Amino acid sequence: MSVNEAGDQAGWRLVVESKRCISSGFCVGSAPDHFAMDPVSRPLADVVAPSDQVIEAAEFCPVEAISVIDAQDGTPIAPKR
Ligand code: SF4
Repeated sequence: MSVNEAGDQAGWRLVVESKRCISSGFCVGSAPDHFAMDPVSRPLADVVAPSDQVIEAAEFCPVEAISVIDAQDGTPIAPKR
């Protein structure tokens, strides 16, 4: 059942558009528990607990390559566009 693919984890889904990422490293610096460079940024987990750090990473990514989405219903969380 795809709607509840995240299982019992209520949380946020992290998506990095690797083609947009310019490897600034900001997200890794601001949320090192959630992103790594490989060689461009990638999320360390698809679904995470709500966190100010991932909001900050998404808001301040210079090319808006990061999206934070409610894992259960797909509502965009960050960045605010
Ligand atoms: S902040 Fe954006 S551009 Fe910089 S490494 Fe992260 S995803 Fe890439």
